[in-house]
Amino acid sequence: MFQTERSGLSQKLTRIALLSTGSAMLLAFLAFASMSILSRNDEERQQLTSLAGVIGNNSELPLLYADETQARNTLAALAADNRIRRAALYTGKGQLLAHYLRAAPAVSTPMDSQIPAASDTLQLHMVYPDAQLLPALQLYLPVLRDGQHIGTVMLEASLSRMWLDLLRTLAASAIAALLACILALLMAARLRNNLTEAVAGLISAARQVSQGGHTAMIRHQRKDELGTLIDSFNDMLAQVAARDGALQQYRDQLERQVSVRTEQLEKAKNAAEAASQAKSAFLATMSHEIRTPMNGVLGMTELLLATPLSEQQRHYTSMVQRSGEHLLVIINDILDFSKIEAGKLTVEYIQFNFRLLLEEIEHVFAPQAQSKHIRLELVLAPNIPIAVCGDPNRLRQVIYNLLGNAVKFTDSGQITIAVSVTGEDEQSIGLRFEVRDTGIGISAEARARIFDSFSQADGSTTRKHGGTGLGLAISKQLVELMGGRIGVDHALAQGSLFWFTVNFDKRRIDADQPTSLANGECRALIVDDKLASHDLLPRLLNRWQLAYTSTGASTALATLLQAQADGCPYHVALLEMDLPRTSGLALAAALHAEPQLENLRLILLSSEKHAADAQQQRAAGVAYQLIQPIRESDLYECLSTTALPNAAAPELSRLAPPVTTLTPLSQSSSTSVRPRKGRRVLLAEDNPVNVEVASAMLESMGLDVSRAENGEQALHSVQSNAYDLVLMDCQMPVMDGFAATGAIRRHEQQQGQGHKLPIIAITANALQGDRESCLAAGMDDYLSKPFTRQALGHTLARWINLPRQNSQSVDDTTPPATPESAPAPAGSIQRAALEHIRALNPQHGDALLEKILQTYLRDTPQQLRALAQAQLQQDHEALRTLAHRLKSGSANVGAVELAASCKQLEQLARQQSSASAAPLLATIERQFQSARQALEAILEKEA
Ligand code: ADP
Repeated sequence: MFQTERSGLSQKLTRIALLSTGSAMLLAFLAFASMSILSRNDEERQQLTSLAGVIGNNSELPLLYADETQARNTLAALAADNRIRRAALYTGKGQLLAHYLRAAPAVSTPMDSQIPAASDTLQLHMVYPDAQLLPALQLYLPVLRDGQHIGTVMLEASLSRMWLDLLRTLAASAIAALLACILALLMAARLRNNLTEAVAGLISAARQVSQGGHTAMIRHQRKDELGTLIDSFNDMLAQVAARDGALQQYRDQLERQVSVRTEQLEKAKNAAEAASQAKSAFLATMSHEIRTPMNGVLGMTELLLATPLSEQQRHYTSMVQRSGEHLLVIINDILDFSKIEAGKLTVEYIQFNFRLLLEEIEHVFAPQAQSKHIRLELVLAPNIPIAVCGDPNRLRQVIYNLLGNAVKFTDSGQITIAVSVTGEDEQSIGLRFEVRDTGIGISAEARARIFDSFSQADGSTTRKHGGTGLGLAISKQLVELMGGRIGVDHALAQGSLFWFTVNFDKRRIDADQPTSLANGECRALIVDDKLASHDLLPRLLNRWQLAYTSTGASTALATLLQAQADGCPYHVALLEMDLPRTSGLALAAALHAEPQLENLRLILLSSEKHAADAQQQRAAGVAYQLIQPIRESDLYECLSTTALPNAAAPELSRLAPPVTTLTPLSQSSSTSVRPRKGRRVLLAEDNPVNVEVASAMLESMGLDVSRAENGEQALHSVQSNAYDLVLMDCQMPVMDGFAATGAIRRHEQQQGQGHKLPIIAITANALQGDRESCLAAGMDDYLSKPFTRQALGHTLARWINLPRQNSQSVDDTTPPATPESAPAPAGSIQRAALEHIRALNPQHGDALLEKILQTYLRDTPQQLRALAQAQLQQDHEALRTLAHRLKSGSANVGAVELAASCKQLEQLARQQSSASAAPLLATIERQFQSARQALEAILEKEA
């Protein structure tokens, strides 16, 4: 009935009050009403009985004498009592003697003439007169005289008055009870307000606290349980406030601690970064420092091997050389690894001749494999593109690594490099490289960790074969940097199978430059009897505006020879494989055999993938085989690329690639540049000794050398003269090599020449002369100082065609590490350095040496004065540049101690610390004097 759980406290209290007072009042009222009815009923009966007794007494005589009149008179007295409705007197025998009827229409019942009931006992009962709502009380009372029943009195009284009275009384008491109820409710309401106010206060305070707010103590003057509850609540509030305070304190403390820790972490992080930078710098410096003497060792060993030696001496020296080369590989690995770790390694995106790169790699490894009697095989899928865009240097490094391992861990059998296409679309091509060997193989357990750094298959292998366990880790990083994957599989029969996949972009051929192939000098002959003008080949040649003629197989030779005789030779012949009565391959062989067509490039077009294998192609003098339908980029590359080894086509070298800025560092485009006399090289270098050394080397290669003392001079010189190449020192006064290169590139752009002039950085500083920063500055290649003639030759050969005798000697050797100055102390001068200079010019070595030493002796005092001045003026920049210059000059003439001190001074200047510069300068002065004495003595002796 009452949903007590849902109703509020106030409602509950109201209901309780209402119910309790209501029910109490109702019970009291009911009790009172029933008591009243009973007692009034009794009273009525007694009154009626006494009245009947009085009437009986007064009627004794009439009854005795059956005096009816008297009897009627007696009864008439009853008129005074308006309750009596009827009365009768019966004789002792029960006969009606007299009766009385109240004069009222209600009383209409006739009197019984005979008494209806037993007459000798008192009888009292209710009767229900006709048409009356309320019952009446009827009484029969026997009248006795001397114990003898003489008659009976009958009285009938109406109860209306009694009920009226009763109703009045009950109504009054009901009103009183109602009033009492209302009063109780009013009082309960007051009490309830008193309670609910306190409870509501508690509730709102509790709610505030639960919502995290603050609340004041609840004030009260109660002494009851609610008061106790409020007091407890207030206590609780106080405790909560105390805890909040403590919590806030802890939080503040924590925040302070966090900020302190953050600061410490920041410091630690900075320190770690600085340490990492220092590590990288240290590694770079160390690798440079180690490489310098290493190159000395290697260079001198090389020289030594060129002298007459006994068999045993030759054996020992070769071992020294091999170990040196091995050590150099390890040092390079560590440097690469540290670069990768420092996140400094980036990949380039340039266009390169992919097939040429692979053949070059095969060329490098063939002698090593041959010396171990292992067969090395390059298997290229026929649909391999000729040119792609990517990073040829990183790709080369990964293949070198895998091939190097294969050669190292294989004692007999075969090594295969296989390249296949994994997928191709409009823009890119996915290639899979596999290096399979028949060597010692790798266990499954070792395969799982072989790509981790410093991980090797097993200790004994390491001891037998050496190595750092870094090669594969570096390869993995490089492949991933190129967006590819690398892995090792179990070779089916024996040995191991390393693979990697890389996606390369296809070479783009810019439609905006259709004339790049069309300079009127390149002519093509298409040999195909079925050629139609709408075929792809003529369409492409037309688009590139390349002059071409087409002919049938039978007339091809005659056409070519005639053109040669007319002085307008064809440069390239595109031979269809499927020719009537002969094949393209056979025709190629015939053309190749023709001495007059020596310079003709032969390109075979076949729809059959395996029309001719590599060996057949080589035998027939085919430069490339293109599978039909041919890729536009492949054809373009065939026409524009320079000669493959053994396939000279000098005129084609003039075909510039469409996007000239993408010309790769390694692309051998340069090697096919038509050799011509008097190639001009600009040497931008400030150090006079270095100028002499480098000039001698360049001149010994048959090159014309011009000199510039600083970047500004170099820029002017390039602007007003035509050079084939610039050798650019990075650190120079007035304008450094980086700035000068930038200015030259801008100049080229203004002239509309694009990136044309090869600029090769030369620097002694491994830190600043990083290949990447040189490339970023717009240079094309990088050579670290001091370098040998051979290293210089190799670098130059990548860019220009060296006069024949030089390029020959350069090409004959496998590219070694760059040898640098070699130690062989003689007093304060390393004689080896001087020998090195002398060796630069086989005919006039002494004269060259004398010239260089005199330049050094003449120039150095000036430099020392400038140094002293810079030190006085605290000009750190000048101090650094001058020290750097003197360092490299002194190192060149073998004044190693002096060079070391200069290096120290250079570092001090870089750190801007001048405190110990003065004593160091004094040492340098002293060291120069002793070097001078030694050098003068040498000069005298030479003279
Ligand atoms: P390194 O050759 O300098 O030790 P790598 O990372 O190149 O370092 O190679 C790690 C190890 O993997 C080698 O030491 C060798 O145990 C194993 N390994 C690599 N290539 C081969 C291979 N072709 N055949 C057998 N084992 C190989």
